[in-house]
Amino acid sequence: MPAFNQRIAAELEERKQKGLTRRVNVLSGANNSSFQSDARRYVNFSSNDYLGLATDADVVASWHKGLDLYGAGSGASPLVTGYSPAHQLLEETLCEWLGYERAILFVSGFSANQAVLFSLLDKTDLLVQDRLNHASLMEAGSLSPASMKRFKHNDVEHLEKLIDGTKSSLVVTEGVFSMDGDKAPLDSIHQRCRAAKSWLMVDDAHGIGVLGENGEGSCSAVGIKPELLVVTFGKAFGLSGAAVMCSEETGDYLAQFARHHVYSTAMPPAQAYALASTAKLIQEQNWRREKLLELQSVFDDELRNLDGFVQTETPIKPLICGEAETAMNLARSLKEKGFWVTAIRPPTVPAGSARLRVTLTAKHTCDEVKLLGQEICRALG
Ligand SMILES: *Cc1c(COP(=O)(O)O)cnc(C)c1O
Repeated sequence: MPAFNQRIAAELEERKQKGLTRRVNVLSGANNSSFQSDARRYVNFSSNDYLGLATDADVVASWHKGLDLYGAGSGASPLVTGYSPAHQLLEETLCEWLGYERAILFVSGFSANQAVLFSLLDKTDLLVQDRLNHASLMEAGSLSPASMKRFKHNDVEHLEKLIDGTKSSLVVTEGVFSMDGDKAPLDSIHQRCRAAKSWLMVDDAHGIGVLGENGEGSCSAVGIKPELLVVTFGKAFGLSGAAVMCSEETGDYLAQFARHHVYSTAMPPAQAYALASTAKLIQEQNWRREKLLELQSVFDDELRNLDGFVQTETPIKPLICGEAETAMNLARSLKEKGFWVTAIRPPTVPAGSARLRVTLTAKHTCDEVKLLGQEICRALG
């Protein structure tokens, strides 16, 4: 008799005891900035749809048009018959926008990250990651044959010590950290990598579309070009999927050896088509980024004096509560007032740093953000 049943029961029970069981909510319309649930209306401060594109009429129309042009599914993996002119259009659009020779597409950011680390790293390599990197990167790193070291969050000196004198290393950081909303010191990290002849990989899931001129992201904002740039389409793009931006030769390599690309059904061509037109829209509609900046300053003004407030230059606004229960209670009381805000608990964040994670989108109004701020102050006051 396998040990699985016992293990499953024990793990579930342990989560429950710790008060860390997660629940899935069936929500209709929650890809919008406000939605209805159980006969009441909520303003949604929990999505990663920073630019408000998930329900945008032009984005929806482009997906419709893609369906008319290409049908529903891609039918196969890219190297078989799954790669259409829509996929090619998306790759070319991304290359031109972000200044890379190649873009390799993936159905998710999670698989893009895993694919790069698994296909690139050998057992003689050193992988050096910011310790707060996304689960997809951490997991791939610990399963890869390379030896992995973690540097203290955003600590360039610590990074430098770890890569000093190594033969072949890959440094991986996020552009914007998803749970803290802070930016990596990309310029200094890039310099250290150059000095140590390391490659740099930046996962810009939360920076692309939001930061930099025309939404080019965290790297362009500071004028660096890492060897590998991962952009994902589930956040500011309002859709899903991902691309790895790289050189011609690295692209050829990934197209041959990145298993999540080679052995997985290509994303639907209609989705690729919608993504290509959304990439254009993101570049053109600067008002969305300007609106976010306005909302950020409204939020900061309301909460600046509160314990646990952290100033960020992104639409991700953590409010550190400490214990999981405190964060849960705050989220619950905000829900009673019509604000949907997610409490983030361990193991997603380190123990003792449970938090409210407020995310702003270009579709919110200044009044909505102001009222949220006032309600948070009242609940904690
Ligand atoms: C969301 C996220 C991913 C995963 O991307 P998906 O497309 O949702 O699979 C990877 N890295 C970071 C930093 C993320 O925030």
